[in-house]
Amino acid sequence: MKIDLHMHTNLHSPCSQTPPEVQIQAAIDHGLDGVAITDHGAFLSPEDRDALQAKFPKCRIFRGAELWVDGDDVIFIGGPGGPFPRITSETAKNIARETGALVILPHPLLPPSRKIQISLDAIIPDAIEVASMSTDKNYFSQTRDVARKYGMKLVGVSDAHDPKYVGMFHVDLDRTVRDEAELATEIRAGRFRIGANYDCLERRYKEMIPEVVLAETVFREGGTEQDFLARGGKYAFILRRLQFGGSWLPNLEVIGLRPSDSLS
Ligand SMILES: [Zn+2]
Ligand SMILES: [Zn+2]
Repeated sequence: MKIDLHMHTNLHSPCSQTPPEVQIQAAIDHGLDGVAITDHGAFLSPEDRDALQAKFPKCRIFRGAELWVDGDDVIFIGGPGGPFPRITSETAKNIARETGALVILPHPLLPPSRKIQISLDAIIPDAIEVASMSTDKNYFSQTRDVARKYGMKLVGVSDAHDPKYVGMFHVDLDRTVRDEAELATEIRAGRFRIGANYDCLERRYKEMIPEVVLAETVFREGGTEQDFLARGGKYAFILRRLQFGGSWLPNLEVIGLRPSDSLS
């Protein structure tokens, strides 16, 4: 069962222009069997989920949120309803404990800190993203080391804010799950592999390679973000990523990987 565990819609994410119906239809078109809607700062309510589920019986919809926790984004799948603009690691622990929510650390170790900001004394996420449109192939080994040290499962997701990239990476579960609790059980047990949609990946490469090539040139020449934009670059954050040893290119090394492979 193919599921995208991290995806945004305009229901609660100010950075997404895409209605949930369009994202879910993209998930179906890209061969997925389920999606978790993980908007920023607010959980998908049970009522909204039920209404969407009725419209899309072929795609299982899981409730989630991406919350700001002590300086890191953290994904919850399951959990309560309602908005949670900013919480502490302690509150995150309580949400996970009281609701059984699956906890995923998305796009970890990003610049400028290149460190995990949440308190791992309070909460150790069940899983950590190693592939998405926001992670970086250059951070793979560091992410794997953190996963090994804390026993987190490596997952692939999209973090798509528009339909082009829904399911670009995803998890392919060994069995079918019906709700958030069953999904959490399967992810925690590592009964899945990381999957990819190659059409989405091709679109991503077409979009990003010219940007990365330009950013590398500007970086080599010691140029600024203004130079990058003046020379036709669209995303200044790519230059920033290069300044911290990143690449912004997706990590293809993990396609097909099972947690048991990654931790051996
Ligand atoms: Zn966003
Ligand atoms: Zn996100």
